Amino acid sequence: MESREGSDIKMVKETAYYDTLGVKPNANPNEIKKAYRKLALKYHPDKNPDEGEKFKLISQAYEVLSDPKKRDLYDKGGEQAIKEGGMSGSSFSSPMDIFDMFFGGGGRMNREKRGKNVVHQMSVSLGDLYSGASRELALQRNIVCDKCEGRGGKKGAVETCPTCEGRGIQVHVMQIGPGMVQQIQTMCSDCHGEGERINPKDRCKHCSGSKVVRDKKILEVDIKKGMRDGQKIVIHGEGDQEPGLEPGDIVIVLDQRDHELFHRQEDNLIMKMEIQLVEALCGFKKNIETMDGRILLITFPPGDVIKQGSLKSIQNEGMPLQRDPFEKGVLIIQFLVAFPEHHWLPLDRLPLLEALLPPREDVLVTDDMDVVELTECDPREQRRHYSGEAYQEDNRQREGVQCQTS
Ligand SMILES: [Zn+2]
Ligand SMILES: [Zn+2]
Repeated sequence: MESREGSDIKMVKETAYYDTLGVKPNANPNEIKKAYRKLALKYHPDKNPDEGEKFKLISQAYEVLSDPKKRDLYDKGGEQAIKEGGMSGSSFSSPMDIFDMFFGGGGRMNREKRGKNVVHQMSVSLGDLYSGASRELALQRNIVCDKCEGRGGKKGAVETCPTCEGRGIQVHVMQIGPGMVQQIQTMCSDCHGEGERINPKDRCKHCSGSKVVRDKKILEVDIKKGMRDGQKIVIHGEGDQEPGLEPGDIVIVLDQRDHELFHRQEDNLIMKMEIQLVEALCGFKKNIETMDGRILLITFPPGDVIKQGSLKSIQNEGMPLQRDPFEKGVLIIQFLVAFPEHHWLPLDRLPLLEALLPPREDVLVTDDMDVVELTECDPREQRRHYSGEAYQEDNRQREGVQCQTS
């Protein structure tokens, strides 16, 4: 359910980080997490090698906005304040570390001892999370080459890299001005910093000397009842292999699509139900089809009144609890009352209706009152004031004149 409406406008100095993640400045921590999760998986160098810069920007935006203190600093002073606060350029965490922390790769230390985790997003429906599901997933990962047993070449073919003489680095001398030179050290491109290489003629043909080969793996993924959007399913030891290291994990991140009727909030489900005015005042019977195909019959007795926007709940018809799928949360129904159109009743019959309705309040009219006109209020007209350079000082003044949009 939308917990915030137009009046909850936040004043921030800049919106660039929010724009990068595609969220509004008043987004809650969950919305920020979800936005990062989707974008980071989409732009991860494994999937999108040409989008390294974008991946970095996403990480930086997330690093700031996910930390309440840094976010507050950014909201008040923009990127400038973040830089002055000591987070410029290199003091941001590495995008890969943030990614590993988020998706459970264990950070750099772990990465050096184990093969890489293979992270994969899996799109699921709310119905899959409600009823449980089993899915086949085809994944690519690196496995140790079995032809050379991960050596990259014939036994004893490893030699000291002639380019860097085993140091793993290359030193370039650059002239940067008259009589001035600068030494630049780079990782040796011939041995990738390892200091040793395999003579090209002894290289394993199967893996071209890289010690690993790509391998396709079909996995059976078990989606349990009650699992959540963003939940990770970890399959240990099935990620990338590297010679001499423990293999990484496969991490599957569930990404739930919106359902047209039900909206999940923790273990509860929320739905909107439109009813006619006559039903709101005189009672009704209605059907709801659940996600596992059962039909619920709800009866609202004559005599009770349902007000516009009011909430009612049905116990044990929400989402199954993951720890105990026989238990479910609550199904909450929000009622929207459909009022009749203008002139639905001939004017001469209105008194009949009025005689039945609760009495109106009398208003005393005096000459000194200003007679004003009541016109239709167009929410789009109102919203226009907020776009562009919104978030200004005069917000408070505007909020008072906002139309109710619902
Ligand atoms: Zn090989
Ligand atoms: Zn080298």
